[in-house]
Amino acid sequence: MSALSASRLLRTLVWPGWRSHSSKPAQNVQLSKSGNGFSFELTDEQKEFQATARKFALEEIIPVAAEYDRTGEYPVPLIKRAWELGLMNSHIPESCGGLGLGTFEACLITEELAYGCTGVQTAIEANSLGQMPVIIAGNEQQKKKYLGRMTEEPLMCAYCVTEPGAGSDVAGIRTRAERKGDEYVINGQKMWITNGGKANWYFLLARTDPDPRAPASKAFTGFIVEANSPGIQIGRKELNMGQRCSDTRGIVFEDVRVPKENVLIAEGAGFKIAMGAFDKTRPPHQAVAFLLAEMAMKVELARLGYQRAAWEVDAGRRNTFYASIAKAFAGDVANQVATDAVQIFGGNGFNTEYPVEKLMRDAKIYQIYEGTAQIQRVIIAREHLGKHKA
Ligand SMILES: Cc1cc2nc3c(=O)[nH]c(=O)nc-3n(C[C@H](O)[C@H](O)[C@H](O)COP(=O)(O)OP(=O)(O)OC[C@H]3O[C@@H](n4cnc5c(N)ncnc54)[C@H](O)[C@@H]3O)c2cc1C
Repeated sequence: MSALSASRLLRTLVWPGWRSHSSKPAQNVQLSKSGNGFSFELTDEQKEFQATARKFALEEIIPVAAEYDRTGEYPVPLIKRAWELGLMNSHIPESCGGLGLGTFEACLITEELAYGCTGVQTAIEANSLGQMPVIIAGNEQQKKKYLGRMTEEPLMCAYCVTEPGAGSDVAGIRTRAERKGDEYVINGQKMWITNGGKANWYFLLARTDPDPRAPASKAFTGFIVEANSPGIQIGRKELNMGQRCSDTRGIVFEDVRVPKENVLIAEGAGFKIAMGAFDKTRPPHQAVAFLLAEMAMKVELARLGYQRAAWEVDAGRRNTFYASIAKAFAGDVANQVATDAVQIFGGNGFNTEYPVEKLMRDAKIYQIYEGTAQIQRVIIAREHLGKHKA
């Protein structure tokens, strides 16, 4: 069965009340709007989604997670299966053949996938990150073309922003895009791109205004780039400390020609689009593979953090403050509880025969990618102070 028909079937059978997050709020948000207050109870549909993802994690991811960690092989069969089950690409709007789920539901799924293996979850989550600029800023034609194809077969995409000299400082990127007739010509180098060697297309942020004094809000443009475009050289797979089955690479763009139709919104709008994607993709970053009783308090609070952030964005409100709190807090908690878990296991915890050392290695990246722990604090402080300005 294709993912498309599987998704439709699931939607009809299991989630009759499912709603597109682009048009209507998720059910839990509606409940609260109708005067019932904030509800911590998941809807039956959300529970079904969670159960499907948990079953997949338990029965299909966990048995092979250690082997993928050992070999660093990209988990193609798991990705195909997640796609068949409708657990991938959950944000894609219904108009493009997707489920159009809200961030809240996507987070529920992500939590379960991360329980299976955060390396597999990152490979899957990178699709959401790559797609998000197109979801929030793409026109109908771009959405149908690039999101639609991902509902027809299990394709990957990637978010190409970071460069060797520019990570936290996104405005420091040097990749250039120059308009030549009906095309843009792209030259530059990207680094640390998840799904870099597996993607069918990239969201790419490049500088279009060469004037170094141009503000970030005008200097950059977001592009959709076909991965098979001439001039793209994909680097070696990086050997990372954790999440080893996820594919992370550098990519060189040399005179890569992109049609002007692939610009998102307009020249100069790229920075806002690239940053806007994070408000929807940062809430899922928490790890719950460490469900030891001693750590339950932290994990429970981290879960509340992502649920609040997801709830805010699904309700149509700006959630930057909550997304950063969720990401920073859950990323730290993941590291604390994974380290404690190794401690509890003693010498065995330090040995690869036991799963906890992998959890500790895998957890580290949550304090780095999609904005480091420090950058989240910069954002939180800025937002917090901003609220109290007259
Ligand atoms: C496995 C992996 C996957 C990734 N996937 C992607 C991807 O798919 N797409 C993508 O575009 N990028 C990706 N990245 C890049 C990632 O987002 C960056 O590594 C991250 O933003 C940090 O940037 P940096 O490595 O240049 O470190 P730097 O920005 O140089 O940071 C170094 C240290 O300085 C601190 N620091 C920097 N600026 C400040 C500040 N203003 N205030 C306080 N502290 C500060 C940081 O917190 C950090 O501790 C990935 C990285 C890894 C390792």
